[in-house]
Amino acid sequence: LRVLGIETSCDDTSAAVVDGDRTIISQACRNQFKYHQPWGGIVPSIAKNHHYENLVPVVAEVMKDIEWNTIAAIATSIKPGLVISLWQGIKFTRQLLEKYTHLSFIPIHHMEAHALTVRLTHDVPFPYMVLLASGGHCILAIVEDIDKFYRLGETQDIAPGEAFDKSARELKLHKHPLVENMVGGAAIEYLAREGYEKRYQLITPKYSAKMRDCSFSFGGMLSQIRRVIEKDGLYSESSNVDEQKLKDFSACIQSSIVRHIETRVHRAILFCDAIQKPQWKRRLVLSGGVASNLYLRQRINDLCTHYGVELFCPPVEFCTDNGVMIAWNGIERYRQNMNVFERMSDTLVPEGRAPLGSDISEQV
Ligand code: ATP
Ligand code: FE
Repeated sequence: LRVLGIETSCDDTSAAVVDGDRTIISQACRNQFKYHQPWGGIVPSIAKNHHYENLVPVVAEVMKDIEWNTIAAIATSIKPGLVISLWQGIKFTRQLLEKYTHLSFIPIHHMEAHALTVRLTHDVPFPYMVLLASGGHCILAIVEDIDKFYRLGETQDIAPGEAFDKSARELKLHKHPLVENMVGGAAIEYLAREGYEKRYQLITPKYSAKMRDCSFSFGGMLSQIRRVIEKDGLYSESSNVDEQKLKDFSACIQSSIVRHIETRVHRAILFCDAIQKPQWKRRLVLSGGVASNLYLRQRINDLCTHYGVELFCPPVEFCTDNGVMIAWNGIERYRQNMNVFERMSDTLVPEGRAPLGSDISEQV
């Protein structure tokens, strides 16, 4: 069983062919980072144009040594994400389905794919808890099956990746020789390795007294970060900033964001016991771009060790957006004949927003 996965939800044009025996046959990705970077964020129209140009070569590359008749289905992300970017993937998939009529079509929820990738690389049975922390999301959820997701909490404002990216931007790290080609979170992690976090202090959100408060908020932290940068003139290019100050503040940003995430994961673990669902906290999976942060992994690992929770982290390249996770979700769905279509509906449209599963309160 082989499935071709196509991913265009944001700024990466990715495709991959994955086999049901968990082999990745081929994968390709074109990143648009350098085109968006001067604008300080993703520009939807630029993303759309690059997807349009890149889809043909990216899919040609993954299909280079593969016969189309060995592929059973195309899996394509259709939600959530940038609508005009998603459209490009959908339109291109439609063309392929018209040309290769034996192919089935499997529409994919991008965040479900993030939550399930770990099953490609590790033996992780259902159920498990997942933390998805990325540029656009922060979600704690229970994964009970391929199509059963219960949300414990999510961010009330911005995602941690956005807090990292905007902090890096304000610090003008993209102009700093040590980290100029790194994305925001990775640049801060790099500088933080030699930083003393206690030189600065940021207040992280408290939780409400209600037993289940697994919701996140990073907006307040970002405002404080901006105030410190302004007050101390902490721009990496300004002449009075010594490198150590920048490293110390990076360490402070990283540890504050991670501390907040850690308290919520802790709450989620306690909550599972409180509602007598200990099986839900037996395993925890970390994914999303922010989950590639090694300091976060270490802190969550310590927490998990304390509570006897088994921790799984997919390899870093599968934590961020990629075609492999889309193809893999396609494989999992194809096997169970879940949302596998003979053709693409004429009325299919992408969705910018799409919650992951249902709120856990509907389950307990
Ligand atoms: P979403 O999946 O929610 O649509 P996205 O596609 O932007 O969002 P990803 O590609 O999963 O998100 O991750 C990108 C984010 O991960 C960026 O915000 C980036 O700063 C962050 N990131 C990458 N590496 C690290 C790191 N080492 N530490 C912290 N954050 C990181
Ligand atoms: Fe993503």
